[in-house]
Amino acid sequence: MSSENTGRSALLEVSDLKMHFPIKKGVFSKTVGWVQAVDGVSFEVGEGETLGLVGESGCGKTTVGRSILRLIEPTAGTVHFEGKDVAQMRGKELRRMRRRMQIIFQDPYSSLNPRMTVESIVGEALTIHGIAQGEERRQRVRELLEKVGLSKRHLNRYPHEFSGGQRQRIGIARAIALEPRFIVCDEAVSALDVSIQAQIINLLIELQREMNLSYLFIAHDLAVVEHISTRVAVMYLGEIVEMASSRDLYESPTHPYTRCLMSAIPVPDPTAKKDRIVLEGDVPSPINPPSGCHFHTRCPIAQDRCRQEAPPQVEVGSGHWAACHFPEDPIS
Ligand code: SF4
Repeated sequence: MSSENTGRSALLEVSDLKMHFPIKKGVFSKTVGWVQAVDGVSFEVGEGETLGLVGESGCGKTTVGRSILRLIEPTAGTVHFEGKDVAQMRGKELRRMRRRMQIIFQDPYSSLNPRMTVESIVGEALTIHGIAQGEERRQRVRELLEKVGLSKRHLNRYPHEFSGGQRQRIGIARAIALEPRFIVCDEAVSALDVSIQAQIINLLIELQREMNLSYLFIAHDLAVVEHISTRVAVMYLGEIVEMASSRDLYESPTHPYTRCLMSAIPVPDPTAKKDRIVLEGDVPSPINPPSGCHFHTRCPIAQDRCRQEAPPQVEVGSGHWAACHFPEDPIS
């Protein structure tokens, strides 16, 4: 599934990525099974593009983000950044990659050291990478704070003195300090109030335009990613089940799982009627995923074939991919 229809060149290429965690038991820590957190995920992110990655909790989306950055080593598959295999990077090249790829975490409070001032938090990477020290670093941090809507008044304050939205702005200032090209936004707005979410999303969009950034924007809510994403990929139990341009996905969702998620998005007009499709049950365990199509245990239109055969990814429209045997069937 590629981004070639967007007309952008790929900055990041993820191919057949797998992350299986061993389950150990007993005094000898014997491996008794595997958690298939991510099971063959492929996508591209173009220059200046945002790919939204959506799915319920436990579907593997955060693991995808962390594997890309090599915060965890994937079990299989490849990640190419700027044309180079991330797994093969060593020494200088790896350090350079770490500057160019950054992450913004979900919980800005626990991801910011409570004993460090804002100046130290945002400026730390500038020191580590030998970019700026002393007064020069202070000046750079001031500029970064202004970029994210804070000011020099905040330099000597500590994380607990800020609201959730402001703390996330500090996290963003830290992420852009090294002038990256690509940022994983890992549930970056999920812990915030709706009005603050919109402000942070608008800030990310502004920074993207200004710095030509690319984002992998991870969220569990389709409504949140709509405004920021160029394309959206929907994940279910370690796999991408649908991927399309943002417009195509919201106008004509194809996979039954996407259709269920879409029907749960609240409509602002209280008089407008919307048929909500209730998604029964929880996401099954990734230790022993259901046979055939992983979604068959919850799919409202599942048939016998779905329990036996895993559906392949099929292009259902230009640049619009879905993995379902019966994408045309209505859900009543
Ligand atoms: Fe539902 Fe079958 Fe399509 Fe899976 S393949 S989403 S079970 S209809």
